[in-house]
Amino acid sequence: LNGLFLPALPILEKLEEHGFEAFFVGGCVRDYQLGRPLHDIDIATSATPEEVCNIFEKVIPVGIEHGTVIVRHDGESYEVTTFRTESGYSDKRHPDSVQFVRQIDEDLKRRDFTINALAMDKNGKLIDLFSGRKDLEKRLIRTVGAGEERFREDALRILRALRFSSQLGFAIEPDTLKAMEILKEDIVYLAVERMAAEMEKWAAGEHVDFSFDYLLSLGIEEQLPIFKNNSTLLSRFNRPLHAFPAFSCLIAYCHILQPEIPINDWTTAWKSSNKVRREALALVEAWKQYEQNGVDRWLVYRLDEALDESFRALIRNLEQEEPIAASDFASKRALLPIRSKNELVLKGEDIVSIYPKREKGRWIHELILKMERAVIEGKVNNSKIDLKEWIKWNPTATD
Ligand code: ATP
Ligand code: MG
Repeated sequence: LNGLFLPALPILEKLEEHGFEAFFVGGCVRDYQLGRPLHDIDIATSATPEEVCNIFEKVIPVGIEHGTVIVRHDGESYEVTTFRTESGYSDKRHPDSVQFVRQIDEDLKRRDFTINALAMDKNGKLIDLFSGRKDLEKRLIRTVGAGEERFREDALRILRALRFSSQLGFAIEPDTLKAMEILKEDIVYLAVERMAAEMEKWAAGEHVDFSFDYLLSLGIEEQLPIFKNNSTLLSRFNRPLHAFPAFSCLIAYCHILQPEIPINDWTTAWKSSNKVRREALALVEAWKQYEQNGVDRWLVYRLDEALDESFRALIRNLEQEEPIAASDFASKRALLPIRSKNELVLKGEDIVSIYPKREKGRWIHELILKMERAVIEGKVNNSKIDLKEWIKWNPTATD
């Protein structure tokens, strides 16, 4: 067992000391077998949530009814979930009930794909009831049990199959694919937030272009907000697609391809956060500037550093060319005379005192923007004297 699992070992050991079984499960075991970086470690145990809470000192009972307790250990959080089965999915969204069980077999059976149904004990020994190891080798996404039944229980698994094919570059096993086709219409019953979480990971996948063929051939877009009402949108996508680091980047891309659909329609239909909306707007703005002037200083200044990767992905997808290197972007940013308008030495109150008779209003805000631009473009120094002079000699600045 390597790095990331080691700090979690004491949790398995402690559960076993108390007479319970405990395993690493799910994505972390899959990614470990594949040699991919791990991002979080999930543990499954025969102990009930109550028992888990009694054993560990620092616990956060996040979802007791579903069996999940977060255990804090050495500054890290681990999700510890009681072995459970699920039954009945009458609303096509949630299991009607979950039952805690004492054997891991039942717990692995409820999991979506064979590659996600591996468990690993503290010595690194695998429990592999559904030949998940073999499917990892064959690079296949295959449901645990009959696809139709599993997708009927939870149509989110259809989108999950897609997103794993995008993240891993794995093919979808033919029977699984057939079942996805048969049950794809159930996707509309899902909560949009859950769909969005999967599609965000789908878009960010390294193999998104490969997976896009599945999406197209299955016609999944007919079930997705916005896409379903704009049948030509997907045909405008430039191939090959390159990973979209964030959902806002995909939204910006779609909006640029089909400007008639406002960003707000996207974020409303997909129930995105305000942050996603702001990011998408900023990316579209940056793209417009880029089309006019390339990566100039004003663009670098206006674009939030956190959006560099998304902006570069946008260029990659729209132009099918490798964009400016990330390091060049960073060095351009480092050379800017100011980083934000807060660094302008001439402040709002200075402007007011230069024009004592003029009523305060939007013009001040706009003047500051013009000063920012002049400073960034090297037309004036960021000093009080120079900026005052600049305003004097640019009568339109105060319009
Ligand atoms: P990631 O690396 O993105 O976290 P993951 O495989 O860990 O991938 P999660 O959504 O974190 O995915 O789920 C953890 C595990 O729970 C999965 O590996 C799978 O075994 C199980 N699981 C999650 N969602 C479902 C579902 N809708 N149906 C069945 N099993 C699921
Ligand atoms: Mg996970």
